[in-house]
Amino acid sequence: MSDILLFNPPAPGGQGYTREGRCTQEAGVWGTQWPPLTLATAAALLRRDGHRVTLRDYPATGAGLLSLTDDLRTLRPGFAIWSTGTPTLSSDLDIARVVRGNSPASVTAVIGTHVTVRPEEALCEPALKIVVRGEPEGIIRELCRCAGALADVPGISWRDDDGAIRHNPDAPWLDPDTIPAPDWDGLDCDAYRLPLKGRRFLIAAPVRGCPYRCAFCTAPLYYGSRLRRRPVAQVVDEMAGSISRYGIREFFIWADTFTADRRYVQELCRFILAKGLRISWTCNSRVDTIDEETLRLMKQAGLWMISFGLESGNDAILAASGKGITAAQSCEAVLMADSLGIRTAGHFMFGLPGETEETMAQTLTLALSLPLDIAQFYAATPFPGTALYDDALREGWLNGAGKGGAFAQNSAVMELPGLPAARVDAFRREAYRRFYLRPRAAARVLSMTEPGALAGMAPLLRRFLRWMR
Ligand code: SF4
Repeated sequence: MSDILLFNPPAPGGQGYTREGRCTQEAGVWGTQWPPLTLATAAALLRRDGHRVTLRDYPATGAGLLSLTDDLRTLRPGFAIWSTGTPTLSSDLDIARVVRGNSPASVTAVIGTHVTVRPEEALCEPALKIVVRGEPEGIIRELCRCAGALADVPGISWRDDDGAIRHNPDAPWLDPDTIPAPDWDGLDCDAYRLPLKGRRFLIAAPVRGCPYRCAFCTAPLYYGSRLRRRPVAQVVDEMAGSISRYGIREFFIWADTFTADRRYVQELCRFILAKGLRISWTCNSRVDTIDEETLRLMKQAGLWMISFGLESGNDAILAASGKGITAAQSCEAVLMADSLGIRTAGHFMFGLPGETEETMAQTLTLALSLPLDIAQFYAATPFPGTALYDDALREGWLNGAGKGGAFAQNSAVMELPGLPAARVDAFRREAYRRFYLRPRAAARVLSMTEPGALAGMAPLLRRFLRWMR
């Protein structure tokens, strides 16, 4: 039995920071800090094995390095394992030296999509011992069971006693029947609040894996390309447990593409209804995997908002990016959800290969024409491990920031032919201004805002002003 510290490390500047699989971003969409699903799921497996696990999400509570060093000195954990993200990679790797300085005997290990594809880069940090590649929870469990025999742990890259970096074979994906409910104990659940509503929420992840091949997406690196569905009874039990244990009835159903299997979604919704679970939830979806019957059932089971990755208003760009949808399908899905009284969020991207001033204008026109409640405009980001990254490298599109590894969706790093990165960033800001500075958009946002959340609106407003500047 070991003492294990699992944590989301403090972020540079002390701001909120979500590092969860393909989603690594400053305080998430709309300023929301996500509960650290992977760490909590790993905690469940480790506690089941009898380990003493301390779970920390330092950015969620504004805690900084001082809190981490306090924990390290107090706990002296056998393992210190933390999440990393591309935008914060350098400071995330520096954490290894903080661990070594405060708890020298701790075995250090990191998880995340970036380190999965570039383990050598991470292991250049001498204080880091292990990189967990891919879906982390099962690998972490084996690591904590292995009694130092690292060569026997599939799915890790590590530094041996001679300083050589060794790459063990990949680990198998977890059997979805064996994925436990996340164990959030140790986290401050008050820190996770829905934007505009201010209500506490947790993440539920019924499905893992994505069979699609979007050139810009890191999802398959983390959960693979095969859809793995957890038994609906287990998912519903987990939600019921969140109500009884933490008093939380709001969920973000997080899956790479939750609606990829409509039959499964319908089964889950029917189970929620049959159990009489009074919950409220949001989810993400693809516009070509949804239909009216399923949406109606989802609404009955508690869905209040659905997020679609619409990406572009230009079909040629959508096709070239491998997204496999059309602008017409985007219109149809958003209108359908809106007509059923389900709130909609649209996620768009500027600066994909083939982008021009004209195609960016088409995307903005699409956003403005749809009855969206929320729109997010990102810069297309060539995260390492994606086909977009390979293209950007081959074509020489990466600018100085990109070559320096500064990949984040709020700042373009690709100099496309005829479209400088600075122009993409300027257009993003213009898109935010033109979308939200409309009476209709403001009315929609206000209609979602609950009185109790008004006090927490200041950071959101600051964020908006920053986006639009
Ligand atoms: S549908 Fe595309 S963008 Fe969405 S998770 Fe799958 S690969 Fe990523």
